[in-house]
Amino acid sequence: MKTKQIIKKARGFTQPYRVEKGRHFRLKDIDPGDTMGFGDEARPQAQELLARGIPLLAELQDRLYAHNQWGLLLIFQAMDAAGKDGAIKHVMSGVNPQGCRVSSFKTPTPAELDHDYLWRCAQALPARGQIGIFNRSYYEDVLVVRVHPELLARQKIPPALVTKHIWKERFEDIRAFERYLGRNGVVVCKFFLHVSKQEQKRRFLERINNPEKNWKFSANDAAEREHWNDYQQAYEDMIRHTATPEAPWHVVPADNKWFTRVVVAAAIIETLAALDLKYPEVGRTKLKELAAAKAALVK
Ligand code: AMP
Ligand code: MG
Repeated sequence: MKTKQIIKKARGFTQPYRVEKGRHFRLKDIDPGDTMGFGDEARPQAQELLARGIPLLAELQDRLYAHNQWGLLLIFQAMDAAGKDGAIKHVMSGVNPQGCRVSSFKTPTPAELDHDYLWRCAQALPARGQIGIFNRSYYEDVLVVRVHPELLARQKIPPALVTKHIWKERFEDIRAFERYLGRNGVVVCKFFLHVSKQEQKRRFLERINNPEKNWKFSANDAAEREHWNDYQQAYEDMIRHTATPEAPWHVVPADNKWFTRVVVAAAIIETLAALDLKYPEVGRTKLKELAAAKAALVK
């Protein structure tokens, strides 16, 4: 498969799940179990794309790095056990660690709570030439914090500023922040791994029953499951208000891990390919330098 073919195929995989204008978006229109009609017999074909896509991703990252102008920010959000960690691990397995950094955002520390909610994420933004991966992000501040209002109270915001408009205001600020990043050359690409409640249950039970997976399970995960519907609503509202052409959401069916990984890889390939990065050409002075260095080395 040639590069152009891979990129074309990649587009086919992301198109149904890419949300650029969220206004009328409905979560229930995307089936977590969807595999685009790839039954088990067609699965190797999809996986072949992943196998070819990973080296291509590495090459695209190398060009991004060589250019040192654009940065890429990948944001991953999902319910517990939807496969964020696995998707990040598999999809980025081929990329040069020097050009890539993963940041995980957990319950905020006291120092983090002493700042605005974008603060900790702003410090982890990718430099030019780099890929930054956010495993959770400032979007938690319109998700878990919205589902649990007591967390909002802990954020120490002056009470006069906390009104019923707070979520709308946060969406507006997030859109503005991402537009700002885009205008500075940081391309933002967002993923919501959309898992079903049933599949989450199956994965939780696997984590409980398999000693090697016990570490992945926390009692809090089960407690959060009780708020399933509130979370789904918060996710839907978040996508409606923050999906834009410059920072689209990809709502990726997540009940089949192999399919999730293909779609995520495809979206990253598509995003990087759209930058049309060639290796930088060097000027005449540099060419002279190279010639002189070569002559010296050969002698
Ligand atoms: P995990 O990613 O499974 O290690 O869990 C991290 C936990 O931190 C999740 O339960 C998140 O909901 C929580 N978390 C992340 N960001 C925030 C935030 N801004 N406020 C409260 N909880 C958060
Ligand atoms: Mg967890």
